[in-house]
Amino acid sequence: MVKKNFKYIYGPVSSWRLGSSLGIDPISGKGKICTFDCIYCQLGKTAILTNERKIFVPATEIIKELDLLPTVKIDYITFSGRGEPTLAKNLGQMIKAIKQNRKEKIAILTNSSLLDKYEVKEDLTLADFVMVKIDAPSQKIFEKVNRPLVTMKFDTILRAIDNFKHIFKGKLALQIMFIEENKEYASAIAQITKEIKPDEVQVNTPLRPCAVKPLPEEELNDIKGCFSSLNVISVYEASRKDVKPISNKNTLARRGKI
Ligand code: SF4
Repeated sequence: MVKKNFKYIYGPVSSWRLGSSLGIDPISGKGKICTFDCIYCQLGKTAILTNERKIFVPATEIIKELDLLPTVKIDYITFSGRGEPTLAKNLGQMIKAIKQNRKEKIAILTNSSLLDKYEVKEDLTLADFVMVKIDAPSQKIFEKVNRPLVTMKFDTILRAIDNFKHIFKGKLALQIMFIEENKEYASAIAQITKEIKPDEVQVNTPLRPCAVKPLPEEELNDIKGCFSSLNVISVYEASRKDVKPISNKNTLARRGKI
C-alpha cells in the first residue's frame, strides 16, 4: 500500500488500550504545545507551555485528510498528537464534524489540566472514550513529575475529574504513568482512583524512548495489585493488534502517547 503524507492524521497504530487507533493531532505545531512538561514525555521538551486555548488547525483540514483515507479497519479515531489536545479551541467542532462523516468511535487522551473549564468539559462529553490522567497524590509530586504551568493546582484537577465523571455518559479511563519518581505513591494514587471510580484504570510506564527509564514488568505488576478492586489493565500485559499504518514515517512520529 502506498504510504500517505498526511499532516494532521497518523496511523492507524496498534494501541494497547484502543486496538487499531487512527490518531489526530489537533495542535500540530513545530514543537510540543502543552500545559505540562512531564519528565517522562515521549515527545521531548515542551516548546510552548500554555493554557491558552486556540484554533491551531481548522476542522475542515482534518475532514479533508480523513476523506483521503483508504478503507481500513479502525477501532477508534483518537485525539492526541504533539501536545495537549484540549488546547484546541475547536475540539468540539472537530468531533462533531468527524461524527457526521465517519462511523468510528472517538477517543481523547488528555492530561486533565483544562477539565475545570466549562467549554473543555462540553467538548469532551461529545467523545465516546475519554482517558484522563493523574500521576501523583499531591501538589508536590504533581509538580515534580508533570512540571505544569505554575498556576495549576492538583486539587482543582482532581475535583474537575470527579465532576466530569458525573456528567460524562461515555467510557472514562484514568491513566497513570509510573516511573521511579512516583512509584512509592502507588497506594495513595490507588486510593484517589477508588474515589473517582473510573470505568477503567490504565497502569503505564514509558516503554518508548524518553528521558527516564520504564519500571520493569514485575514492579509494574506489584503496582497493578494496588488497583485490584478496579478494572485495571497494564501496558505490559495488554494484547496488541497487528495493524498496518497508511501514513508515512514522518507523520507516524506524531503518534506520541497513543
Ligand atoms: S506526556 Fe502528555 S501531558 Fe505530559 S508533557 Fe507530554 S504531551 Fe504533555
